[in-house]
Amino acid sequence: MTTLTRSDWEQRALTLKIEGRAFIDGQYTDAADKAVFDCLSPIDGRLLAKVASCDLADANLAVENARKVFDSGVWSRQAPAKRKATLIRFAALVREHAEELALLETLDMGKPISDSLNIDVAGSANALAWSGEAIDKLYDEVAATPHDQLGLVTREPVGVVAAIVPWNFPLMMASWKLGPALATGNSVVLKPSEKSPLTALRIAQLAVEAGLPKGVLNVLPGYGHTVGKALALHMDVDTVVFTGSSKIAKQLMVYAGESNMKRVWLEAGGKSPNIVFADAPDLQAAAEAAASAIAFNQGEVCTAGSRLLVERSLKARFLPMVVEALKAWKPGNPLDPATTVGALVDGQQMNTVLGYIDAGHSEGAKLVVGGKRIMEETGGTYVEPTIFDGVTNAMRIAKEEIFGPVLSVLEFDTAEEAVAIANDTPYGLAAAVWSSDISKAHLTAKALRAGSVWVNQYDGGDMTAPFGGFKQSGNGRDKSLHAFDKYTELKATWIKL
Ligand code: NAD
Repeated sequence: MTTLTRSDWEQRALTLKIEGRAFIDGQYTDAADKAVFDCLSPIDGRLLAKVASCDLADANLAVENARKVFDSGVWSRQAPAKRKATLIRFAALVREHAEELALLETLDMGKPISDSLNIDVAGSANALAWSGEAIDKLYDEVAATPHDQLGLVTREPVGVVAAIVPWNFPLMMASWKLGPALATGNSVVLKPSEKSPLTALRIAQLAVEAGLPKGVLNVLPGYGHTVGKALALHMDVDTVVFTGSSKIAKQLMVYAGESNMKRVWLEAGGKSPNIVFADAPDLQAAAEAAASAIAFNQGEVCTAGSRLLVERSLKARFLPMVVEALKAWKPGNPLDPATTVGALVDGQQMNTVLGYIDAGHSEGAKLVVGGKRIMEETGGTYVEPTIFDGVTNAMRIAKEEIFGPVLSVLEFDTAEEAVAIANDTPYGLAAAVWSSDISKAHLTAKALRAGSVWVNQYDGGDMTAPFGGFKQSGNGRDKSLHAFDKYTELKATWIKL
């Protein structure tokens, strides 16, 4: 928690030291060709920093260093208990620098400062520490062999991991990858989104301060089609782990096939259904959850509850409750600790969201609340949380991931119909069910094709819950011990006795 006011944060922003250079082999460095791009704040459009625009030469250098340090064994062959200690120190340094990191995240990405501090930075430190704490408690296996054989089934780090992450939870998505990747002994080249590179660059230095050997963690800011592509096509990258859109996720599979068949693990988009039956145990809680599921983080959430499926007999009573609950989600300056909805990440994303609002109107959905850009005079990119009623699954606003605060309300009569509508999407990231009938809730949860299903809540879970998608929402899982699978190869060693 913090007692800082908006004006305190604004003062700090004026003197904040922002690092825009790449981080390779333990030091900050310009891109090889000295190219930079402008990093602008969505709060007011101001230039925050000139950031290194990395490309192929930088990818080659970072991967070369990452490989060299991996092969040296200084990290990859270190005792797990030692790697644990380093990750715990790394997490502690992230916590020590929480206010600085939260300010960077909010200025860069537009999310409310209270969320940056209490959710993003706190959750990132927790993720790093959790993976560190786990690593010296995992055992390998001895197979059930005949008497004259010894069969060892062991896990080894994959080698050089390229982690490509999005802009909506910049530090958190990076930490979900870095925790297990580093804990298992890999070297990492992290590519943050060009829309939000600042916290990734800052924590690289903290990792070295924590004792991570130089070259184990490298950070290359830049565009997807330049440095992202270079990493994904690189012949000496063993694994690419990705969080981002399904479109780019598919592209990464192509790159792997065109290059060295590197392992590709994908956390991609979503269009998550939030199903409210008439017998939901607590309608007020359901309404508040429906509002936060679309407004939290400006709706820029892969698991946003962007399709609210309400039982027809309940809708006339329930929708006004959601509208009322949405009043708590009012856009404001993200540096104000009371703000719950900040700015969208940039003008491009804002125009995408406004385009979907236009599509909702033109396809015949009924606007209930919101629907406009606001606070334009600030130079920031703010859009009101918006609800459309009378939506069908055929409309674009129900089919496509908007990645903004736009909620589509659909109706159903039976559980079977709810499940059919819910599953009628290429995505399968998350879903929620509200019912006080335990059998109905459970059977519906089972029928939903999604990696996370919440019952009588939205967005539950912690580091113990594997997180990832069915269908075109991806493969593999972040968080939990299952995440370690992505960063290790299984080896069978058979010894004749
Ligand atoms: P994006 O796919 O546009 O970009 C993600 C990352 O990929 C960025 O770093 C980008 O620079 C890079 N990239 C783009 N083109 C590339 C290419 N050709 N080669 C290599 N890298 C490339 O996604 P975004 O707009 O940054 O983020 C929003 C998306 O992320 C949404 O679809 C959202 O659902 C998804 N997301 C998913 C999860 C999850 O865990 N499933 C979590 C957060 C966000």
